[in-house]
Formats: sequence, structure tokens, C-alpha cells
Amino acid sequence: MRDFKGIQRIIIKVGSSSLVNKDLSINQPMIVGIMQSFKELSDKGINVALVSSGAIASGMHELGLTKKPKEMSLKQACAAIGQSKLMEAYNKAADIYGLKTGQILVNHDDFQIRKRMNYLSDTLDAMFKNNIIPIINENDALAVEEIKVGDNDTLASLISPMINADLLILFSDIDGLFDKNPKIYKDAKLIDVVNEINADIINMAGDKTTEVGTGGMQTKINAARISTSAGANMIICNSNQIKNLCDIVAGKEIGTLFKASKNQISSREHWIIYKANSMGNIIIDDGLKDALKKKKVSILSKGIIDVNGDFLKGMIITINDKNGNVIGKGISNYSSTEIRLLEGHESKDSKEILGYEGKKEIIHANDLVLLKEGL
Ligand code: GLU
Repeated sequence: MRDFKGIQRIIIKVGSSSLVNKDLSINQPMIVGIMQSFKELSDKGINVALVSSGAIASGMHELGLTKKPKEMSLKQACAAIGQSKLMEAYNKAADIYGLKTGQILVNHDDFQIRKRMNYLSDTLDAMFKNNIIPIINENDALAVEEIKVGDNDTLASLISPMINADLLILFSDIDGLFDKNPKIYKDAKLIDVVNEINADIINMAGDKTTEVGTGGMQTKINAARISTSAGANMIICNSNQIKNLCDIVAGKEIGTLFKASKNQISSREHWIIYKANSMGNIIIDDGLKDALKKKKVSILSKGIIDVNGDFLKGMIITINDKNGNVIGKGISNYSSTEIRLLEGHESKDSKEILGYEGKKEIIHANDLVLLKEGL
């Protein structure tokens, strides 16, 4: 058994391919199964939030479409039609078990502004306190490229720390992570536990995507990185295991478990690195990169080689090395125009170069979040 003692809150994501039948009609027995498992959890005093896909697929069914529309507005219309059908199905199933649900639709820009993100957290908290199950999806009816999260594995992993989830479970049409592609290799083995997401794990993920949904294995590994860094465990397992949800939460070894990181980052750091959009980037030299490998130090102008993009002071920017690897993200104390003038110079010369005195650091160590895999 896995050691999952003291679980209070969990977040479940169910993919489109599990929620609709082959003809894209809603798979009502699956929805009833989800609510039945939620009832068992609720009887144990465990809060659960659901991230549910399936809006576009069930909207396509309503409109008699068999292929995902390429036209953005038609896709959005499908989402609008399908989302209400989905909620109808969930509410019908929830009634059977005396449960209550509420709908939350979000886009990426709801995370971009921290204040707005905090309002979302408060709403979710109030729902839990009133025994309402939040049913969350991307607001696909309004989602355009610039503001969308894009897939619900990522969306669930972004919400996970906002509700202080102990566990995120991604239910999909696959049993978990395999050491090689199980569709090609008969001897592929299911990985039981991943302690650390390293290059080997990323290689195992390959590039498998499902026909109906959006998220493939790479997306799921990325979701694992986002949720485990915030201190939650994450499981990938087959949606035919939803009936065993209580056992999974009790620690039964089903699917692949990605263990919560021991070096948990704060919610502010999580916001900087995973939620906020980067408005530009700076390239640093090898000397500064080596220093960052040893210790998180502030980024000074001397170690900067180049700047890209147009950003203002206070915006989030990415830090890259010479080869384009992402080393981290941080809040810039200077605009891109100012950094262009300061790059390569000693901090003490900044007053002379700019004609006014600013901060010594381009990015202060406290406003900097490093990505281990980039260093
Ligand atoms: N939000 C999409 C929908 O409800 C699904 C996204 C995904 O498959 O990850 O149709």
C-alpha cells in the first residue's frame, strides 16, 4: 500500500475519451460511477474537486459533427453547447447520491493576475465548506490562443495547489506510465512509482496523444512536475478504475504514482514559474549559470548577454542560458529597454548609464525561481 495517510482534499481529472462514447454522446454510466465514488469519499470527510473534459466532444455530438471543427468559433460553440449538457449529466448523477455540484470555468488569464487567482481560490474554498463539488473546465467557449491553458491535465495541476490538494489523479484511457510504448512493445512494464521526474522519465513519455482528448503523456508528465513541486502526489491511471477511487486514495497500488517533491516551492514561486506568462527573456553567461547551479543568487547586469521582448519593470521574464535552455523565471526590476543598456556592465555603473539610481539587482534572488532541469 502507498502511504497516503491524512488525505483531506483531492482533485480528479477525467479526460474526454473516458466521458463520451464512440459516437461522442455522454457516457452516463461513467458519470454516475464518478458521483458514486465521490459519495464514498465525501462520507469519509474527503473534499473532492473534479476537472472534467468532454465539453467540445459532447457539443460535437449535439451538432452531429464527427471531426473536431478547425474553425475556432464553431469549436467554441460546441464547447458552449456541450458544457451545459455535461453539467446536466453530472447534476442528474449527483442527485442519485444526494450530492451538490457547482460549475467553474477558467482560462489562463484567471491565473495570470494573482489577485484574480486568489478570488478563484476563495470561491473554491467556500464551495468545499458548503459541501459543493466544484466541476471545473477550461472556459472553451471564450478560449482563444492567447488566454487558454490548452489542456485539462495542466489545468488540474495548476488548480491543485490552489485548493491545497494532497493528491491529483488523472483518469485517462491509459493505465499509467510505461517504460516503453505499450502499443508497440508487448513486454512494456507499468511504472509503479516515480520519485523524481528526470530525463529518463521524460523519454519514457514519448509523444502519445489520444484521439478525442488533448493531453498526451508528455502533458501528463508536465502536470506531474507542476503538481508535485507544490507538494501534492499525482497518479495517472485508467478511468476504468474510477470505481476503485476510495481504494486508490487509501493507498492501493493502481496506476503510476508521482511522489510529491521534497523541496516544495511556495505558492508565490509556483505562480511565478508555472502560472504567470513570461513577457520576455534574458540570456545569461556561463559564469552566472555556474553560480546559480551552486546557489540561488540575484541576477546582476554583468552576467546578462542579451535581452528579448518588450517588457516593463515588475513583469515576469524567463532566464535562458546561451543554448536556449530555460533556467528559471523571475520578476524583473527593470524594463527591457533599461536592461539592454545595462547588460554586461557592473551594477555600480547603472546610475551613470541610466541617469538615475535603480535597484542593484536585475532580478532579486527572492523573486527568482530556478528550474533544476535547466541548470
Ligand atoms: N476543455 C476541453 C473540453 O472540455 C478538453 C481539454 C482536454 O481534453 O484536455 O472539451
